[in-house]
Amino acid sequence: MNAFELYERHVNPGLAGLLRFTGLDKVESHAEGVYVWDTEGKRYLDFLGLYGTLSLGHRHPRVVQAVKDQLDKMPMSVRVMVSEPTARLAARLAEVAPGPLEMVFFSNSGTEAVEAALKFARFYTGKPGFITTQNGYHGKTLGALSVTPKERYQHPARPLVPGVTVVPFGDAQAVEAALGPDTAAVIVEPIQGEGGIRVPPEGYLRELRRITREKGVLLIADEVQTGLGRSGKLWAVNWEGVEPDILVSAKALGGGVMPIGATLCRPEILQIYKTEPLIHSTTFGGNPLACAAGLAALEVTLEQDLPGRALEQGQYLIGSLQQLWNTYPEFIQEVRGRGLMVGLEFTDADIGGLVVAELATRGVLTAFGLNDPKVVRLEPPLIVEKSHIDECVAALDQALAATKVALEGVL
Ligand SMILES: *Cc1c(COP(=O)(O)O)cnc(C)c1O
Repeated sequence: MNAFELYERHVNPGLAGLLRFTGLDKVESHAEGVYVWDTEGKRYLDFLGLYGTLSLGHRHPRVVQAVKDQLDKMPMSVRVMVSEPTARLAARLAEVAPGPLEMVFFSNSGTEAVEAALKFARFYTGKPGFITTQNGYHGKTLGALSVTPKERYQHPARPLVPGVTVVPFGDAQAVEAALGPDTAAVIVEPIQGEGGIRVPPEGYLRELRRITREKGVLLIADEVQTGLGRSGKLWAVNWEGVEPDILVSAKALGGGVMPIGATLCRPEILQIYKTEPLIHSTTFGGNPLACAAGLAALEVTLEQDLPGRALEQGQYLIGSLQQLWNTYPEFIQEVRGRGLMVGLEFTDADIGGLVVAELATRGVLTAFGLNDPKVVRLEPPLIVEKSHIDECVAALDQALAATKVALEGVL
């Protein structure tokens, strides 16, 4: 059996079936920059970017080198001594954080970083409740899933963590109305990713900050997908000058080479470590390899002004997509986004599926949002060139034309 068949049998048959449907019953081989190759030698332009992880593209040389150097010295921490890359990355994150988020808890993924944020909020406030938003996505471990209000994923896992209230995204008044004496924190994505690339109305985050501060409730910004420059600023909360109490980062923080999660907190929130230093800990979180990758990723992101680049290339991408929207108004419902976090909403989820499949056969990788299958998200590396964007948009044009022909055949 080839690797695809082994995967289908031993890892996830349903997912393998979906990949088959989109024509991606392939085995990946290697990758470089914005391109990926399968084992048959076909090349793909990666406009999915591992859901916003590959901000520096695949195998950025500076990140690869930093990881190789650390690998040759000491990949794992003994934990009974302090690791230099861990301490340095924490200090660097504190320097570039929005506000006085001076303490960092490291983990290995976005969902773990969210778990930590939820627990820290309970430790600090002594209260159990959370407010989250409709279509919000915060991960799939039990705590993070409890604030990810998607019935399909939540239902079979019940009972969830209690005390969660769900309010519409983009509506600060709804948060104000939902706040109660038991609320520990409000958790929100500055721009919803899996929910279908939804940019909230101007002033939303500022309002949330005002309301939570007034009521003594913590504000948790989940920047797992928006962070490290994707939205056009280093952190998406910077668009409104908002300083959250806790900021969650992951995905792009590992430079597209290592998995890492980070939960940045105001120092008083982690006071508990003074008396209970092991109240929340992990064996692998903040390991030297991941932190070496994080340090290099931050350095490249700032040195090359990748946030600025995301903004410029994002405007070009959105502009090009708007032209397609004019050509195919029967298929495209909306084009939206900020920086290189771009959503293409189709009039129907099946059309989105067909287009994703047509794009794959034309060598362009995309996917729809986990919480909204009508929206195909485009999150290419921030190092993408205009020529790559032209390549993607030309393929989309052909994919839409092919979808049109296919549907006319059916009607
Ligand atoms: C992807 C994502 C997560 C979960 O991260 P994992 O590393 O997949 O566990 C949490 N929040 C947001 C906003 C995300 O996009």
